[in-house]
Amino acid sequence: MALIVQKYGGTSVGTAERIEAVAEKVKRIHDLGNRVVVVVSAMSGETNRLLTLAEQINPNASKRELDVLVSTGEQVTIALLAIALERLGCKARSYTGAQVAIRTDSAHGKARIQEIERERIEGDLGAGQVVIVAGFQGIDEQGSITTLGRGGSDTTAVALAAALQADECQIFTDVDGVYTTDPRIEPRARRLSRITFEEMLEMASQGSKVLQIRSVEFAGKYNVPLRVLSSFEEGEGTLITFEEEGMEQAKISAIAFNKDEAKLTIRGVPDQPGIAYSILGPIADANIEIDMIVQNIGSDETNDFTFTVHRSDYKRALELLGETAKILGAREVRGDENIVKISLVGVGMRSHAGVASTMFEALAQERINIQMISTSEIKISVVVAEKYLELGVRALHAAFQLERAEA
Ligand code: ADP
Ligand code: ASP
Ligand code: MG
Repeated sequence: MALIVQKYGGTSVGTAERIEAVAEKVKRIHDLGNRVVVVVSAMSGETNRLLTLAEQINPNASKRELDVLVSTGEQVTIALLAIALERLGCKARSYTGAQVAIRTDSAHGKARIQEIERERIEGDLGAGQVVIVAGFQGIDEQGSITTLGRGGSDTTAVALAAALQADECQIFTDVDGVYTTDPRIEPRARRLSRITFEEMLEMASQGSKVLQIRSVEFAGKYNVPLRVLSSFEEGEGTLITFEEEGMEQAKISAIAFNKDEAKLTIRGVPDQPGIAYSILGPIADANIEIDMIVQNIGSDETNDFTFTVHRSDYKRALELLGETAKILGAREVRGDENIVKISLVGVGMRSHAGVASTMFEALAQERINIQMISTSEIKISVVVAEKYLELGVRALHAAFQLERAEA
């Protein structure tokens, strides 16, 4: 008898019929004698709908109240799923994050799970109940509702699987696994039967939304066997694995992209010690995270400094940079919101040379200008104009022959 945690995303519970279909799937696995915990997201579009309502009333709503608001989306789906299971004669109980005591810190909108109480869930499982838990939410020390960041139901599922030492955590979604790139951008993308944790972590951090990054971190840290599967069709999906042996040794495994960044440049600053700190210090003090950084020394002994931030921080970062420019006597400040970062990810990069040159050649052939480059051991990222997203991803997918059948 296995303990399985299943998570169903927004599209998978997007209508009453789909919730009924999920109930049937859950009942089937429960009837086989497994203990089952189910985590659900809000119905697709619901979290955005709620946020838009709040925005209409007050664009500066406090993060605490926004969490009270958006957590209701998941409360609807846990109850509807329990009601659907009742109708099938399958014993089930639904709980909000607070009720099963998913304890988090107080960082509203991006809270981190600290602890989960197991007693209630284990008691119900022992009594043969299916336990349904609202994804994306928890409760802090003050008793306030918190949420875990967009896509956070993945993290709820993995954290529960870790706490309960589940045999497997299954993430059911609207694609049948992790692909070589987002199949919505490149229809020739191919499902991977396995991918390493390291690669999945890099893909998630480079913008691939199929799994929330924290869920992958959790799974890696607590050794949770994690699988991504389709809610709508049978299949083995994609296993996220620690093993590299027996894996296809391609140069790269996947292409991720991130449309949520913006680029800022300050030109003509003095080339002297402490300059990077004077530019980036005020940005960091405002709690704005910086991703890529490039510095060029001009022929006139001055520096140009370019960096990227999350798009939601762009306006504030531009203001701060404008103030710094006045203090330093910089020549000009520029910003660009219409950029995208495309990243190649693969552990195969460690043993294959020439990945960067193949990447740059493929982009050059499409006349796509590279604005910034950054690399790590298993990743190469470039920033290009947003209008080149699809062309760039498809050109790279072809250049690295990612559409080929798996060996
Ligand atoms: P859910 O609501 O089930 O959590 P998400 O929309 O968060 O679903 O994640 C699934 C989506 O992730 C897919 O529909 C797909 O467009 C996107 N996606 C991005 N990159 C990939 C990838 N490499 N493999 C599979 N899906 C991807
Ligand atoms: N409903 C939340 C969101 O839309 C959490 C999730 O779906 O995982 O981001
Ligand atoms: Mg998701």
